[in-house]
Amino acid sequence: MKLNLREKIARVFSSTKFRIIFLIVGFLTLIILRRLMGIFGLALGYLYVGFISLAGFWFGIKGGLISATVASFIFLSEVSFFRYAAFRDLVIKGMFLRFLIYYLGGIGMGYLSNVEKRLREQLKVLAYYDELTGCVNFRWTMTILENEIARAKRYSKDLAVAMIDIDHFKKINDTYGHLAGNDVLRHFAQILKESVRNVDIVGRYGGEEFLLIFPEATSEDVLTVLKRIRDRLTQTKIVSPHLRGGIFVKFSAGIASFPYNGEDLNSILSSADSALYYAKKSGRDRSLVERRRWLRLKPVKRVKIEIKESISGRGIEAKEVYNISKRGILLLFPQDISSQEFICRFSLSEEESTPAEFRCRLVHKDKSKEGIYRIGVYFVDIPKEVQEEIESFRSFPSS
Ligand code: GH3
Ligand code: MG
Ligand code: MG
Repeated sequence: MKLNLREKIARVFSSTKFRIIFLIVGFLTLIILRRLMGIFGLALGYLYVGFISLAGFWFGIKGGLISATVASFIFLSEVSFFRYAAFRDLVIKGMFLRFLIYYLGGIGMGYLSNVEKRLREQLKVLAYYDELTGCVNFRWTMTILENEIARAKRYSKDLAVAMIDIDHFKKINDTYGHLAGNDVLRHFAQILKESVRNVDIVGRYGGEEFLLIFPEATSEDVLTVLKRIRDRLTQTKIVSPHLRGGIFVKFSAGIASFPYNGEDLNSILSSADSALYYAKKSGRDRSLVERRRWLRLKPVKRVKIEIKESISGRGIEAKEVYNISKRGILLLFPQDISSQEFICRFSLSEEESTPAEFRCRLVHKDKSKEGIYRIGVYFVDIPKEVQEEIESFRSFPSS
């Protein structure tokens, strides 16, 4: 993230280290100034209140109290060392008033700052969270997803999302009323939040739809989490004063992941949405992973792909390449693949190019009728040149 000068300055000013140093330097400057000014320095002691208030403003009541105490001690030690011997009586008389002002300044400003902080927190809750369920609201969920996609891209990390929709929710509203529906939403959201990791996000996507974001997780991981949630829901009767006797709820979910289903927000969301659609269509109460992948280009005849399951082993050539993208390939393979990771040998078969070898991951496998396998492969560390080569296929005439 690139910061402009103003943001950089603001960041320095708001750092705790800077603030503490600023206050210490302020106190020391006052001590020195007062020393230099002799008796006139006495009145200067009231300037401590400025720094005490600042400490209260920055660090709340605690900051105000600490700095007021420090200032009082400084003042007390000066009086004890008879710096103002001739005016001692006068100084002692005014001392308590001085302390009172110090503490009032610190505590007062600290209190105001605490109130302001609480208000700011409340505003944040209103701006980022959904009032009914306490989930992250739609707008903020989208921002988080956008950021997570960028992060996954930059660090080559996994990322998966689940779009969850409660089954037959309208019926709950119709049978028990809208308030009962709200109670169900609240309980349901609570269960979702309790079932995911701290780093996962539970966002309210729509009325009874939720979007879960799972950084550094695959679709398979998400399936496991959703199974856990489903199991929990079958054992948890949702009860509330509006729901006579309580009810059980079920949900359908569509799962999509980066980069298999897309590399931007829209394609990932629309993949999850279409998986959810099929989950509903095929009978509800289930989670489906979007299997239609990132593969976009028509079969490119000139590509030759071999898969090597061990370093020393021989590569076995794919029978046919269905389609290919920068990130992966869908191909027909003459035999089963048992490893999750293997080496791909990639060459343009019609040209005399040296084959490139890189690590690949299995992301999909199904057996066709003829006993051959359809294999979806994700390129883990594909060299840039090969990616560029694949990009250039776009200009090839499709066959
Ligand atoms: P399906 O299994 O196909 O998802 O059926 P469904 O009835 O759950 O789906 P549908 O989208 O037809 O109904 C969703 C309902 O959720 C409609 C809407 O009135 C209700 N709803 C949306 N937001 C809220 C809310 O905040 N509170 C309550 N109580 N109901 C809501
Ligand atoms: Mg719905
Ligand atoms: Mg629904």
